[in-house]
Amino acid sequence: MAKKQQTNHLHCSFCGRTERDGATILPSPAEDAGICLDCLETAASMLGMIDTGEDEQAATVARARAASGKTHKSKAPAEHKEIPKPHEIKQFLDQYIIGQDQAKKYLSVAVYNHYKRLDQPADAEGVEIEKSNIIMVGPTGTGKTLIARTIARILDVPFTIVDATVLTQAGYVGEDIESLLTRLLQVADYDVQRAQRGIVFIDEIDKIARKGDNPSITRDVGGEGVQQGLLKLLEGSVVNVPPQGGRKHPEQPMIAVDTKDILFICGGAFEGIEQAIAHRLNSSFVGFSTDAATRRIERDRFMSHVAPQDLRTFGLIPEIIGRLPILTHLLPLDRDALRRILTEPKNAIVRQYIKLFAMDGVTLTFEPEALDFIVDKAIEFKLGARGLRSIVETIMMNPMYDMPSTGSKEFVVTADFCAKQLEEAHFDAAAV
Ligand code: ADP
Repeated sequence: MAKKQQTNHLHCSFCGRTERDGATILPSPAEDAGICLDCLETAASMLGMIDTGEDEQAATVARARAASGKTHKSKAPAEHKEIPKPHEIKQFLDQYIIGQDQAKKYLSVAVYNHYKRLDQPADAEGVEIEKSNIIMVGPTGTGKTLIARTIARILDVPFTIVDATVLTQAGYVGEDIESLLTRLLQVADYDVQRAQRGIVFIDEIDKIARKGDNPSITRDVGGEGVQQGLLKLLEGSVVNVPPQGGRKHPEQPMIAVDTKDILFICGGAFEGIEQAIAHRLNSSFVGFSTDAATRRIERDRFMSHVAPQDLRTFGLIPEIIGRLPILTHLLPLDRDALRRILTEPKNAIVRQYIKLFAMDGVTLTFEPEALDFIVDKAIEFKLGARGLRSIVETIMMNPMYDMPSTGSKEFVVTADFCAKQLEEAHFDAAAV
């Protein structure tokens, strides 16, 4: 028996080292017992286990878990939750996302099918439901990430968001493509089985498109290389993932993750895609000649015709497009949508401020003209939905500073007040 340590630090019952000595200790449920990873490895190799890939993987997983402080996590069997139906998922999304009905509907169905697919019996009469990864096309700030995040709230599968722009081909500066699986493993507390059923949202997929629309002349090797790397994941393959992320190197132990059942949702602005759609439809895009309202109708009309070949024109390789069979679009937010976003979603910005003030016993109200003013500014500064928060934040800075000390019980935000606050703060759209 290893001698008992006098300190409160976890120690290895075999070699006596403590966490202080730099050892990573797996504690035992028995009091005062534990084993460090080195001793664990020695024991495993004595049993002839260490040579088998599976056990090596188990040791790597244990090590990664220990390093992330998740050693005590009990492996309770995942209780079987009832699968939320597409209507229920959509209703939930409606509480947080204004408009974008097609995207919400498509996503609801895709997530529902993802669950069903995971539940399918292995030998379902020879019919195997295939995975349907998704791609959402729509201008920046229209709710793509918000939809993905909101979906994550109702799921009981691990979920992570990654930005395609940080991913690079192996050998280039940036993150290896496998790093997105590292994140999934981390949110799954290194439960590989769970991670393998997770959902990954890849944002800004258009930024890794091949530049130029003639693939034979203008090859952008960097972008295409990342696409090829992603393709491997989308197709479903077993990938060696560095547990703590970072660059792969040969001595580093890896965790093997099978991506076959991981659902990938991609999003991208694909700026200017309306022109490509118009071109394909042999129709002209009335981009400049008419008033804003007509321009919007035109753009929306074309967006609803978005098809896989438009993504190809844009520089996504056909193999990637083939692996993203569900294509949906989001529309630019008009004045009415922006106005609704201010007040209607469950966690709308205005509601958040009302709650903040209520916590100090202050009743906060926004006059309708004040809300109109805020929307006007967001449009004037071309800030879209993302700008609403920074505008409101600037307007509310002084009241938030003063109110807790004044003792008043009511505060009314008027349009004049908003104008004055923005002017005084030298609100500058460029700084947002
Ligand atoms: P995208 O991913 O399309 O670039 P986001 O989903 O990140 O855009 O949107 C940025 C912010 O704007 C969100 O966090 C949210 O506050 C607001 N927003 C955008 N679109 C909507 C929408 N349709 N409904 C409600 N809020 C929205």
